[in-house]
Amino acid sequence: MNAEIIAIGTEILFGEIVDTNSAYMASELAKLGIEVHWVSKVGDHPDRLYETIDRAWRRADVTITSGGLGPTSDDLTRESVARVMGEEMEVQDDLLRHLEGIFAGRGGGMPATNIKQATLIPSAEAISNPMGTAPGWWVDRGGHVIVCTPGPPRELERMWTYEIAPKLRQINPDVAIVTRTLKTFGISEGGLDEMLTPLFQSENPELGIYSKQDGIHLRAIATAGTESEAARLIEPMESEIRSIVGDDAVWGVDDETPESQVAAFLAERGETLAVMENFTGGLLASTLAEIPESRGFLRGGIVLFGDEQLEDHGVDAALVAEHDAASGPVAEAMARAARRTFGADYGISVTGNVTRPTPTSGPLGTSHVGFALRRGATSTAGRYPTNLRRIRARAVTHALLEFLRHASEGPPRQGGRRRMFGR
Ligand code: ATP
Ligand code: MG
Repeated sequence: MNAEIIAIGTEILFGEIVDTNSAYMASELAKLGIEVHWVSKVGDHPDRLYETIDRAWRRADVTITSGGLGPTSDDLTRESVARVMGEEMEVQDDLLRHLEGIFAGRGGGMPATNIKQATLIPSAEAISNPMGTAPGWWVDRGGHVIVCTPGPPRELERMWTYEIAPKLRQINPDVAIVTRTLKTFGISEGGLDEMLTPLFQSENPELGIYSKQDGIHLRAIATAGTESEAARLIEPMESEIRSIVGDDAVWGVDDETPESQVAAFLAERGETLAVMENFTGGLLASTLAEIPESRGFLRGGIVLFGDEQLEDHGVDAALVAEHDAASGPVAEAMARAARRTFGADYGISVTGNVTRPTPTSGPLGTSHVGFALRRGATSTAGRYPTNLRRIRARAVTHALLEFLRHASEGPPRQGGRRRMFGR
């Protein structure tokens, strides 16, 4: 079964809003085993909208539109679908009462323009939208389908999860697609490609490799009659990848992020963290703060905007003079100072050089990340040849992933296998 997605709205054509709805629906359709063959974008223009929907109706099994279900005269999705189907829009009493109820609940009357949100054509049924006023449309003519969804992403996503995905599963029941993403750090894309060459020949599951901000991702996609069958196809490939690249190289799977892994690591142990940054402008603290549980484990953060501030925050001036502010020893001292200042179990620091390379700081774009652990402090350097904003993001990722590596290592020379932090 194939599909076409149509993102509707002049704002999209002008680049005023980014069409995230198409990306969302495309990835959701893949999970349902429905192949997206086309994604179109069209403005709020009656003829062009009609042509675009008509073309999709003729070539795709399933057409899914987003946007243009509002009450105003430039919201033309319903009118255009009615024209393609050659049917008349009719006001539905139950939809109208429901709509009037929403407006009454808000303490006002319903504007006359909203009436069109209570219409259907004979081939359509309404899809409920508890997050907004506009119901969606599910148009079905002999198994040939058009689905109209609202533009606001939270309305669309709610409707998708509870209404549309289950209905699509019903009309396309025998295909399940399961994906598994293994996220790696520390091995280059070319290196992984070489190590895994035979696996890339496999057709089901199919293996893809993607370079991302947080390392190289390996994604296996399996297709089968049921979800559990598809998952079973992936298992042996996942084990083989892990044994070839080494468990240490895989830091997470699927939706896991470096910060979610750090949060899980600390929560599991009931331990706490403090940070000090003189390079990333607060990005390390703010990345961790995005995690809802961070209140529990993030004791505090110090953001510096200059080397001369180091001394005020517990870093020995002589050390800075000897090694340079952007150096491993200073990174370690910063991590220790953060840990001490906030009474945390661990300290992480980022320092680096964005303006002036010095003999010890390394070239521009070099960062030094430091870790204060119970058994002592350690540091590592990273070099990311890219623009400043990305350098900062990379330094934060690097700091978080290296932290997991060091903190999960346990006391040195204890022997035994390194604890894996991938899952
Ligand atoms: P409304 O009742 O809000 O008018 P609508 O269904 O008519 O809803 P649009 O008018 O097309 O939808 O878009 C409303 C808002 O939804 C846009 O301003 C934008 O913020 C968001 N939106 C619309 N289409 C998209 C899209 N393709 N991707 C992301 N956001 C979108
Ligand atoms: Mg609108």
